[in-house]
Amino acid sequence: PFPNHSSFELGEWYIEAGSQLSLASLQNLVELAQRPGFSEQVSQANWPKIFNSLGGDGDVLSDPTGDANGDWIDEAGWKQTPVSIPVPIGGLAEARVVGTLFHRSIVSILREKISNSPDAELFHFDPFEVHWQPDLESPPQRVYSELYNSDAFMKAHRELQDSPQPAGCHLPRVVVGLMFWSDGTHVSAFSSEKLWPLYMCFGNESKYRRCKTASELCHHVAYFDELSADFKDYIARRNKGKMPADPFMAHCRMEMFHAQWHILQDDELLDAMENGVVIMCQDGKERRFYIRIFTYSADYPEKVLIATIKQRGDCPCPRCLVKKTELDQLGTPEDMLRREQTMRRDNEVRRVTVSKAREKIMPSDGKGVVVGNRDVQALLQPQSLQAVMNSFSVRTAAADPQFDIFSAVVIDQMHEFELGVWKELFLHLMRILAASVTGEALVNEFDRRFRLVPIFGRGIRRFSTNVSQIKRKAARDYEDLLQCCMPVFEALLPNTGYGQAMISLIAICARWHALAKLRMHTDDTLQMLEEATTELGSQFRSFVRDVCEHIATRELPAEAAEREEREKRQAEKKAAAVSEKATKKARKTVKMNISRVKFHFLGDYVKTIRRFGTTDLYSTELGELMHRSPKRWYRRSSKRNPRKEVVRHERRVARIRKLRNELRSRNKVDPKIVEEQKLGAKAADIHHFIGTNQNTPVSLNSFRVPSPDCSTFVPNLQKHLLPRVVPHTERQHLERVTAEGLEFIRPELGPVQLDWSSVYPKGWRIFSHKIIRIKYTTYDVRRREDVIHIGSDVCNVMIANPAYADDQTLPPYRYARVLGIYHADVSYTGEVFPGVRCLQPTRLEFVWVRWYIINQPKDDMVPLESVSFPPVDSPESTAFLHPNTILRAAHLIPRFHKGRVYEDGQGRSHMARDAYDWNEYYVNQFVDRDMFMRYQMGMAVGH
Ligand SMILES: [Zn+2]
Repeated sequence: PFPNHSSFELGEWYIEAGSQLSLASLQNLVELAQRPGFSEQVSQANWPKIFNSLGGDGDVLSDPTGDANGDWIDEAGWKQTPVSIPVPIGGLAEARVVGTLFHRSIVSILREKISNSPDAELFHFDPFEVHWQPDLESPPQRVYSELYNSDAFMKAHRELQDSPQPAGCHLPRVVVGLMFWSDGTHVSAFSSEKLWPLYMCFGNESKYRRCKTASELCHHVAYFDELSADFKDYIARRNKGKMPADPFMAHCRMEMFHAQWHILQDDELLDAMENGVVIMCQDGKERRFYIRIFTYSADYPEKVLIATIKQRGDCPCPRCLVKKTELDQLGTPEDMLRREQTMRRDNEVRRVTVSKAREKIMPSDGKGVVVGNRDVQALLQPQSLQAVMNSFSVRTAAADPQFDIFSAVVIDQMHEFELGVWKELFLHLMRILAASVTGEALVNEFDRRFRLVPIFGRGIRRFSTNVSQIKRKAARDYEDLLQCCMPVFEALLPNTGYGQAMISLIAICARWHALAKLRMHTDDTLQMLEEATTELGSQFRSFVRDVCEHIATRELPAEAAEREEREKRQAEKKAAAVSEKATKKARKTVKMNISRVKFHFLGDYVKTIRRFGTTDLYSTELGELMHRSPKRWYRRSSKRNPRKEVVRHERRVARIRKLRNELRSRNKVDPKIVEEQKLGAKAADIHHFIGTNQNTPVSLNSFRVPSPDCSTFVPNLQKHLLPRVVPHTERQHLERVTAEGLEFIRPELGPVQLDWSSVYPKGWRIFSHKIIRIKYTTYDVRRREDVIHIGSDVCNVMIANPAYADDQTLPPYRYARVLGIYHADVSYTGEVFPGVRCLQPTRLEFVWVRWYIINQPKDDMVPLESVSFPPVDSPESTAFLHPNTILRAAHLIPRFHKGRVYEDGQGRSHMARDAYDWNEYYVNQFVDRDMFMRYQMGMAVGH
């Protein structure tokens, strides 16, 4: 629809930028405007018409074949379909339209993906297992990572290949693995307007690409509708003005959800499951694609809807029939066995039970009973079922007999642990602090310590001033709290026994969390997770029994305020008369409760990872990430029919991308891409990067000051550089370090002495840098970097301890603080051997560090290494390092209760920056998954 190239680019800019323009988008605009001919071209464009044609208009929206004007050959458009459910009223079922579903055809999304998407070559047609053999002696291990490496996918693939070919068809058959996410979301913090999108990804594509460009690999499939306000009015009218009861509304809501999924699982999709769909691939070959649903991620209330079970029923788990009273038994042998034996199955028995219950509610003779009727409940209660036909059971399971909705409803680390079990525990620990005699002072100290926790790259951000205030924290915030709170809690509580119990519980939580979130698992790490789960369960139970029972904990002030607010709102809703009761000020007693379904879920992790792959594949975090787009689009809509405008905007974005891709393939070489590629290639293979500029020269004469570390700076530097500066060709034989320098032997000349004082940096100066980027390979075999910045929080590094190779009881790493990053052009001015000099300077990079020493033996229960600085004047205090020896940045958190070295903040050495030193630090091995795996020796594939 665009008249010319500039208009297209301006349109693309407008759509991608959303309603809130960032600085970057502004700069983009300025760049665009400077193109020759830009303003003339753009002024010719008819913008309203262009955007209308990009997004389709109202009539076209209901027409699945796309725009009427024929500009688009795009079948993946949006449809709107009325949603009708049987309402059990007046003793029988009354069909009623209760809303509209906005949706796209799943099969057409697949067609579009295979035949048109620019990255189709990265779509895996065949699944495969990955094995890892660390060395020749050890047996190979299975590696769990992607869905297309998983048991579930392999099984589906084998079953498909073993099944008979359709008559007359010899095409290769491919399993397409679908993964769904759905999550109702408020469009903004201050609005009651909700959007309820359904997203879909293909498990045949790598998760690593998905998290980078989620918006292109994750597809918007539907926007669900909810029961509207008029529905309640309608029921009330039919019920002589009486408002409908809660069980009735819950029933209708679930009925409506499955009615919408019924629409999504259309005949076309079922046919693609049963008989496959033939698509011409971009390599010019035809293949027959069979759709399989693998996972469906949602938080607990939506899981209940998907599995058609009763929320807070006697059997609240969507995967097994665990009783409410057994939820706290996580990790016991009986518990693990029970999960297997009472696994929910979508079998004939279940379907018949539900049908019978429905027959009672909505019989054809008009003598139906109410939804909450006792006879009906007696039927459903043993499995906490609901009298709703599960659309997955009716549709997908009919086309693919292997499919079982209960096993597709997967675990969800973010809601279950970070925002579930761990959040609960954290709040309770706050309550325990507050319940102490000196409660207020403790909470104050707690907040102060958290403010002092250093940041760490992208992993740990600065903590808010008052961590103990529980205001709208996201999963990420709770994750940061878990990773850093052990040193903060140390020696905080006056009762050391309780304090100790707290720390061991946090330690196992941190360990479990690190393991559960690994992006790459092996059989060994899964074994570790299994053991951690058992320990987590038993530690939680003993914590509740031995600690929580003895402390009278109350609501936190913020919690009490929130509850009062809630009660007030409810009271206002009901009647003004009861508001008297809601305004009592006392904070209620709260006990730690682990009889919760989220706690129970933690026992399903190992099994699910074995089956579908690691938790990041199906984490609801992806859904949250995806939500950004519809929320942004919503803000730009006129709010009259938000869903319609949002889906139209979704099309605009998709179509603009498609045009861009076409342009790219037309122009073949996009200069921007080439540049990025160059940068990427440059970044990936090197070990580290230090700038090359010479803006900050440092004269070595400036170190001639009498200060403990300065006097040794130059000689130490020369000693460090000596072996690096003499060309290797000249040093053919074993060398020996002597007091003067280096001695080595040339067979024809005998021993040769090299003197360190002859090492000469050109101009007697070195060049200082602020930043060094350390590149490394992570445990899951990706390239990452840590940016070390002098004088900031991120200036600590870890180095392999050379002695560890011989003695594995020693600590594996050494730690140091980087004081300076330098390069210099260095030459050796003495004779390399009699009569020969090589004065050509070499560019050498080096970092100057202050060592930490590891404190042994450990004197406490915190399972982290503790380190300290040796005195600044001791000769081993500082050293020079080759940047290649640095493994990663390290995250060190002060041992707060041990205090600072100089309480007055007056250090002894300006160079060593020791004024704010603490007496001891903890090395935080939980700071990220890669760091955690560095302490699990021999377990990480990438290390
Ligand atoms: Zn269960």
